[in-house]
Amino acid sequence: MSRTAAHTLRLWLFLLVLVPVSLFGRGSIHPQFAMTPQEFRDMVFGLPLEVQARVLRDPSVFLEMTAAVIESGLELTRHVDRTHGLSHLHTPEDLVNLLEQHPGIPVYAADDRLAAPAAMALQELVDAALQDGVRLAISSAFRDFAMQEELYAEHIVRFGFRATQQLVAPPGHSEHQLGTTVDFFPVGRRFDNTPQDQWLTEHASTFGFSMSYPPGLEDITGYMHESWHYRYIGREAIALRDRFFGGVQFHLTEFLFFHGDFLRETFRADSTVHHTDSQTVITSRRY
Ligand SMILES: [Zn+2]
Repeated sequence: MSRTAAHTLRLWLFLLVLVPVSLFGRGSIHPQFAMTPQEFRDMVFGLPLEVQARVLRDPSVFLEMTAAVIESGLELTRHVDRTHGLSHLHTPEDLVNLLEQHPGIPVYAADDRLAAPAAMALQELVDAALQDGVRLAISSAFRDFAMQEELYAEHIVRFGFRATQQLVAPPGHSEHQLGTTVDFFPVGRRFDNTPQDQWLTEHASTFGFSMSYPPGLEDITGYMHESWHYRYIGREAIALRDRFFGGVQFHLTEFLFFHGDFLRETFRADSTVHHTDSQTVITSRRY
């Protein structure tokens, strides 16, 4: 080997070692996260197998899309189900009155409220549906703990405890308490296969809204299919849900419930905002 060739080879070897180290820093798996490959594998280990396979096939894309979800505010993907609930004091800070702020959205009650980002996205969704000739109206939006308690008690009196478990979330366990969730009119099996149901099934995701309780997933979500119930999780979370989590919101929010703190701690944001108490920052920004 000539001296020049040997020199070129050394240079290439040097670059091969140096570039990845400088890009990924201290052996981290991705420039946006201070996380080792082993920590990454441990994190995805508990995911459903088909989700795990997709994530391990494309870890970089997964982390890039996860970074976008963190930046859009993890509060939007907060996991709420029968076992993971909210405090009776949990109330979003930026609730807006739909009738006053968004008169274009038909509502059932004059005091129906939603968190501001969800209300804005809902306005866009309702307008787009109308352009397609589909009229959407809201049956129910934000419900605080006490309202859910009342609804739950009413259902038990009318339908009994067992039936109520499939129909209504116990107080503290309703996505409506997040202020990002709506029921479209009319609630119940009457909504199935209506033009509204069909339009939402096809287009709600485009506006950042997710069907929380899809058909066939009763054993996972704990609820029968609710064609009328949609939660705003944001476009970034929808993209991640569809690319890696098989379109299942529950799997996504459960994953972020277990690993959201770790992801947020290891996230290297390019602004200083995330290095402070990010829960507070995101909370004050979104709610
Ligand atoms: Zn609902």
